[in-house]
Amino acid sequence: MPEVALEARGLHCGYDGRLVLSGVDLALAHGEFAGLIGPNGSGKTTLVRALAGRLPAQSGEVLLDGAPMAAMARREVARRLAVVPQISTPPFEFTVREVVAMGRTPHLGRLQAERAEDREAVARALALTDVAALANRPVTELSGGEYQRVVIARALTQEAPVMLLDEPVSHLDIGHQVEILELLVRLNRDEGRTILAVSHDLNLAARYCDRLIALEQGRVVASGAPEEIITDALIERLYDCAVLIDAGPTGRPRVTLLGGDAR
Ligand code: ADP
Repeated sequence: MPEVALEARGLHCGYDGRLVLSGVDLALAHGEFAGLIGPNGSGKTTLVRALAGRLPAQSGEVLLDGAPMAAMARREVARRLAVVPQISTPPFEFTVREVVAMGRTPHLGRLQAERAEDREAVARALALTDVAALANRPVTELSGGEYQRVVIARALTQEAPVMLLDEPVSHLDIGHQVEILELLVRLNRDEGRTILAVSHDLNLAARYCDRLIALEQGRVVASGAPEEIITDALIERLYDCAVLIDAGPTGRPRVTLLGGDAR
């Protein structure tokens, strides 16, 4: 197996002729847990969509296990890569269990009924994300945080070795934030899953990710261990606010917001 799980090479992407990503080079090694940071509008969601094969490249390419993703069947991509998009309002009144079971689609033949292993994967994902009690509720009646966990559960049932998550804990209370992030750490450490998660919370990103990748105006401007990236200079430049950075109790950098207008 190639060492690199997912790679962007000279990736240019955008919408309606307007370029958002201008030459992104990025390689995620197998078994890596990386965090993607950067201010609003820097292109994080666009990069996740492009890495997931959901937004075509204007130039450059995305490679999954060394092969161009654009030439791969969607089903094949879905077996290897699961995406947790930013949540929006659920479109249909499916039950929680139905939504989570949709993650099994890439493993089932056309019109093939659910097998015992599919039911087990769904039950496991419902339990791991603490939504088993909601299994029969329509997703349209959930809180934002509950629905966010359902979307994560759907990605878990895919059992894909690579997971891309766009702000996976942004709607969760702190207890569920820690629970989901520790679940991701376990999937990464124990099962070797490769994870890239977008985070607005720099403290959580520094605490849980092994590497941070910073985007600014559609370009990767820094990549490295949290201590290398969470520095006054870079954070103040990226977010235009004054911060104090010290080592938190976990030994990882800790960011305290001091005020706006750092420059
Ligand atoms: P981030 O996730 O870092 O906040 P996005 O990737 O969401 O950044 O957005 C980057 C830029 O692309 C923004 O200027 C945004 O307005 C634009 N953009 C995002 N999605 C769309 C879309 N569907 N159509 C047109 N422009 C978009």
